[in-house]
Amino acid sequence: MTEFEKIQKLDSEYVCHSYGRFPVAIEKGKNALCRDFDGKKYVDFTSGIGVNSLGFCDGGWVSAVTEQLSKLQHISNLYYTEPCVKLAKLLCEKTGLKRAFFANGGAEANEGAIKAARKYSFDKYGRGRSKIITLENSFHGRTVTTLSATGQDVFHNYYFPFTEGFEFVPAGDLEAVKAASDGACALMIELIQGEGGVVAVDREYVKNAEKFCKENDILLIIDEVQTGIGRTGTLFCFEQYGIEPDIVTAAKGIGGGLPLAAVLFGDKTKDVFGPGDHATTFGGNPVACAGAVYILERMDSEFLEDVKKKGEYIRERVGKMPRVKGTSGLGMMIGIELEDGIKSGDVVRKGLETGVLLLTAKAKVRLLPPLSINAEEIDEGLEALYRALEKVGETGN
Ligand SMILES: *Cc1c(COP(=O)(O)O)cnc(C)c1O
Repeated sequence: MTEFEKIQKLDSEYVCHSYGRFPVAIEKGKNALCRDFDGKKYVDFTSGIGVNSLGFCDGGWVSAVTEQLSKLQHISNLYYTEPCVKLAKLLCEKTGLKRAFFANGGAEANEGAIKAARKYSFDKYGRGRSKIITLENSFHGRTVTTLSATGQDVFHNYYFPFTEGFEFVPAGDLEAVKAASDGACALMIELIQGEGGVVAVDREYVKNAEKFCKENDILLIIDEVQTGIGRTGTLFCFEQYGIEPDIVTAAKGIGGGLPLAAVLFGDKTKDVFGPGDHATTFGGNPVACAGAVYILERMDSEFLEDVKKKGEYIRERVGKMPRVKGTSGLGMMIGIELEDGIKSGDVVRKGLETGVLLLTAKAKVRLLPPLSINAEEIDEGLEALYRALEKVGETGN
């Protein structure tokens, strides 16, 4: 048995079968390159689903994390810790939001946002104004409540009863928001629907929805779990929409590979949670926060400008490749629309043969390369992607 076969056998015997995995086990990596247990090399165009912002094992990030690790790994939220306050300060200064609550993953951050919105409304108006409007085709997480918030029917099965109080409206339809606004405390939006197929929500619509929400004291929650932390070429995507959300959630890329998430509160919402109103044991973990501080310090305007340029370059090259109809998304969050009959999953599988890790988002191939990827790695990955697209056409699968 090869090393891979041993790992696969153990996984199949002992790990819950909730994931459909590709037949590859990655052993190690550096920046955008990694190797499997047979020594085969891959260019990583996934960054672990938008998580490894600075690629694999960035030297500065590893130092920041390991230095903190050898000082204090955890103490609980009963005490103050330095990395947590530094990270909160950086996030607030860079976004104009006022306070941060730290959690451990995207769904948990969105739960915090939903709880805060409901409490804001409860404190001010009492019971009954608890509805959260979300968009069709959205994705907000896998807990029972964030599944309820997710505007895709495929996610509303088995786990009944789901949390009440969510209403879905089509993206781009302001009248639908108005019609759903009775009894609503918040409108929750992913500006670029990631899992939904890398679909950008219209800018004018979002601005008009913001205006309507402000006039009616409906909070605007922006789920930046996938779009945040530099992914779209600005620290947060909402900056490019010219809006001022009341609550913003971040997760995937914030910890650079360690579990960490944040709920950011604006002026209206910063005092909604008082002592005991919301908590999580691991939230604001010093090791994860120390890594995140390093990441945010690296993401200056030059770094973000570079993300935009690299994104444009990749988009331009991909646009000319075989089987490609077009591209979508912003910055280094890239959707690839394929010609009819070409399945995104087949392109991803061919990519494993040609040496590139890719993602799907519904019918599209999705690229979320590490933001630190260099020009050489981009070209190598694009060549492997080109060959994968060629192959998938040849064999008809
Ligand atoms: C991934 C994702 C989530 C869920 O995050 P988890 O860390 O898997 O809980 C929520 N919202 C968006 C937009 C996401 O992309």
